Amino acid sequence: MKGPGSRMYLRVSLTDRCNLRCTYCLPDQARFAPDRAATSELLKLTNLIAEVGGVHKIRLTGGEPTLADDLVDHVRNARALVPIVGMTTNGVLLEPMLPALRDAGLNRLNISLDALDRDAFERRARRPGLDRVIGSIRAARRLGFDPVKINAVAMQDTDYAALVRFAAWEGVHVRFIELMAIGEARPFQAAQYVPAVDMRTRIAAAGIRLQERTDRDEPTSRVWSIEGHVPAECSVGFITTTSAPFCSTCDRLRLSSQGRLHTCLMDDRGHDLLTDLRSGDEAAVRTTIRAAIAAKRPPARFVREGVMAMIGG
Ligand code: SAM
Repeated sequence: MKGPGSRMYLRVSLTDRCNLRCTYCLPDQARFAPDRAATSELLKLTNLIAEVGGVHKIRLTGGEPTLADDLVDHVRNARALVPIVGMTTNGVLLEPMLPALRDAGLNRLNISLDALDRDAFERRARRPGLDRVIGSIRAARRLGFDPVKINAVAMQDTDYAALVRFAAWEGVHVRFIELMAIGEARPFQAAQYVPAVDMRTRIAAAGIRLQERTDRDEPTSRVWSIEGHVPAECSVGFITTTSAPFCSTCDRLRLSSQGRLHTCLMDDRGHDLLTDLRSGDEAAVRTTIRAAIAAKRPPARFVREGVMAMIGG
């Protein structure tokens, strides 16, 4: 387990709000927190966690981070702290923001895309937006974002082969995320879950040959290249959170838009940092961060009641 002073990876949820209602993530009638920490507070907490945790990489997420009007400020602040600043977004509102985000220092982009067929996309997201998401992916490549990764949550009706072909065609990387028993997904996770090994069987059945690339494995996913394509340009990865959890090497910290620090995705409560910050007690905030990191442990169960959007995926 990582401890204080070791190099951590911080994910900051800029808002719990989202413009989609993906069935595995948010209820259709989602209720969001009435307010969130102020920009200056979230920036300050990011800086304190980065300092105490020795953070080497920051990712901005949500909810939907493109709904946060201080997104560019967060990118700029994060880039002053660390060399790698990423964002995970559904991509619907992204395209016009891309130049400003790139200029502010964003250099990793993950765009969620579960389906390429309009009906399937809208069944999953319960909102329109497929064309805009694809437009954002293409614009990101044109603007030089590299790598661009597509995140697809794996379910029984996912068209794995179509997403792999799309990645190869567009020159992007697709990462299939095993469905987790979190929030809205809890009632159907067991029925809808597809382990990575079955995803590969389905991809192979469609005539696509993948080759495992142990040289390109990432901390949270096994990476495979697509036969006939250059691995640096497109690849397929499987995030095996459920079939092969990576808790023993997990270096992730999550800061919620409410100013709470979570040391595990399955941790609903987190640690309140905002109260001490608002009372001007920065030393107490540092102490809480240090203690939370020291107590970081794998979860007893891979189940979480709260929705993912609260603390970011
Ligand atoms: N709104 C942004 C987006 O759509 O990418 C960022 C937030 S979203 C909560 C972050 C990631 O969590 C997405 O890739 C999403 O697909 C994933 N996610 C949400 N619920 C999940 C679940 N139950 N199991 C697996 N992944 C999930």
